[in-house]
Amino acid sequence: MEEEGYTGSNFKRVCVFCGSHSGNRRVFSDAALELGNELVRRKINLVYGGGSVGLMGLISQTVYAGGCHVLGIIPKALMPLEISGETVGEVRTVSDMHERKAAMAREAEAFIALPGGYGTMEELLEMITWSQLGIHKKPVTCEPCWSAKC
Ligand code: AMP
Repeated sequence: MEEEGYTGSNFKRVCVFCGSHSGNRRVFSDAALELGNELVRRKINLVYGGGSVGLMGLISQTVYAGGCHVLGIIPKALMPLEISGETVGEVRTVSDMHERKAAMAREAEAFIALPGGYGTMEELLEMITWSQLGIHKKPVTCEPCWSAKC
């Protein structure tokens, strides 16, 4: 963790992968709130899957309420499933999952995974394998490692 009083960061926009549900333990939503608040503290904008439900909703609302830019990228077909009520920030619709992942990868300078389900695992593993293949050179980490910088 950075020292108290730290306000800046090298990263301008980070992609967060996380669950479309909140999970059955409070620790999951606590992690989303903590990361959202940390992004705000460091003035880092958010790229995420565009949903307003589950941990995706929680982190996007936290970052948006803190005054940072939020970009959600969501396939049209998933909107009825993953958007319920208002979404915050900018929402970009894409045609499919592949385009979503490619856009998220392009727009972000680093990737962090919070707790989630198969979708989160898939997104995280794809970014790790793209890194291994040299498709991108951006850091990839997951909770709770992000705070420890491991
Ligand atoms: P989950 O962790 O299963 O709740 O899913 C988290 C997010 O990952 C949801 O927005 C899913 O739509 C998304 N997702 C699932 N599979 C994929 C995929 N193959 N490519 C991109 N996003 C996905």
